[in-house]
Amino acid sequence: MEYKLTNDLLRSIPAMEIMLNAAWAAEFCTSLGRETVKKTIKDALDEIRGELRGGQKDSTPIEELVAKRTAAKLSLKQSSTLKPVVNATGVIIHTNIGRAPLAKDALDAVTKIAGAYSTLEYDTASGGRGGRNAHVERLLCALSGAEAALVVNNNAAAVLLALSATANGREVIVSAGELVEIGDSFRIPEILSFSGAKMIAVGCTNSTHIKDYSDAITEKTAVLLKVHPSNYRVEGFVKRTQRQELSELASQHGLVFMEDLGSGLLANIAVPYTATGSSEGEIPVQECLNDENCSNVVTFSGDKLLGGPQIGVIAGSKAIINKLKHHQLLRAVRVDKMTLAAFEATLRLYLCGKENEIPIINMINTDKSVLRKRAQRLCSRLKSTTANFDISVVETEDAIGGGAFPTGVLAGYGVAISADHSKDDAEHQGISPVDGGRPYSASKLAASLRGAAVPVISAIRNERVILHMRTLLDGDEKLIAAALLNYGHL
Ligand SMILES: *Cc1c(COP(=O)(O)O)cnc(C)c1O
Repeated sequence: MEYKLTNDLLRSIPAMEIMLNAAWAAEFCTSLGRETVKKTIKDALDEIRGELRGGQKDSTPIEELVAKRTAAKLSLKQSSTLKPVVNATGVIIHTNIGRAPLAKDALDAVTKIAGAYSTLEYDTASGGRGGRNAHVERLLCALSGAEAALVVNNNAAAVLLALSATANGREVIVSAGELVEIGDSFRIPEILSFSGAKMIAVGCTNSTHIKDYSDAITEKTAVLLKVHPSNYRVEGFVKRTQRQELSELASQHGLVFMEDLGSGLLANIAVPYTATGSSEGEIPVQECLNDENCSNVVTFSGDKLLGGPQIGVIAGSKAIINKLKHHQLLRAVRVDKMTLAAFEATLRLYLCGKENEIPIINMINTDKSVLRKRAQRLCSRLKSTTANFDISVVETEDAIGGGAFPTGVLAGYGVAISADHSKDDAEHQGISPVDGGRPYSASKLAASLRGAAVPVISAIRNERVILHMRTLLDGDEKLIAAALLNYGHL
């Protein structure tokens, strides 16, 4: 009986042609092509057949079941998973949501270069081969004071290449207090080992003296390495060796002094942060390189404090950079034309003193009073959008992020959203009771905002959703209003 029923159901599956011509399939055929729709219907059918044979039953008519299953699969294919989001977290450089949004000039440069042939590696004067690095090297040297510079895929690659080329098979001395891990995939000890260098950790977590380094130098030593502590701070008694001392020590012994700066601060910005606890500001790249010592190199990211695309820079001694330029690994970590175009345009903004056109620099420099006005405007807009919530302007603590100034806080403004409990539950129409019958919880609202067509990423504080103004871009306020309106209709 059961067997017969399943067979009847299987037989009742309509013919492929009929399903392909159904109204629900037409739109997908236009956007994704008939072949894709056909293949997806087949996949859905295979799944459903398997389920029916396995004894799973569903009261939905089979034709509808196939249509639903196929449409769900096709919708996933139709919408990309990499899409823009609204950053209302107040964290300016947020690695998970793409670090630095690019400046308009950088976007224009990408569009121009990516859609055409270009002089990427072509010298128009000779008609022969040119170098892709040349497009940014001069600019980097002018801005940082370096003799030479080389760009690669990201800072992790910069550190790896620099160490591979200068220390392979030899020893690298680094402070035990600087064996940093960044974003769970970049660890100084692992990178050192991967580069073929032997790590010699000296000193203690909170204290390393210049003598610790000099005592560890042997004939096998190649590099003295200093690493920016980026995402953490050691508080209390801390002794760190100064770069000047290390640079001199390296020079005396004919060694390379390499410094991983993490965030490359090029702008002359006096970051208006109030430090909580011990803090060490970001040192501009220029200052780290203005040393007579010619065997120094620094590495830094292009998409952190610099505000450009994902890229890694190695800058400093010409002799060392030349070695890197001829290393086999360079080909594996080289930079794409779109990245180069965006980076060159970003560097030009620095050169012309137009740093404020770089979104993250502008966000850092935006005054609290401006943020307050924007918060008031967003607050009114949201209040006129929905009456279901308590919406108010609040002060916020924003952060630079990306490992820069981890203990520093930027004072800002935002909009807080919480349930309006003075209202009868019946007024929360369309909002299903959650969390013990309450119609609203901050985490539920935050999840709903993330589920909008353009996801809004917010913060939660004291059971309220907080939308930080500092990290919003033009047009985001409209998207937030749309996302909020959508609440309860998911
Ligand atoms: C961020 C960071 C890195 C990694 O840089 P990516 O550009 O993400 O590869 C390496 N070192 C330090 C000190 C950093 O802060």
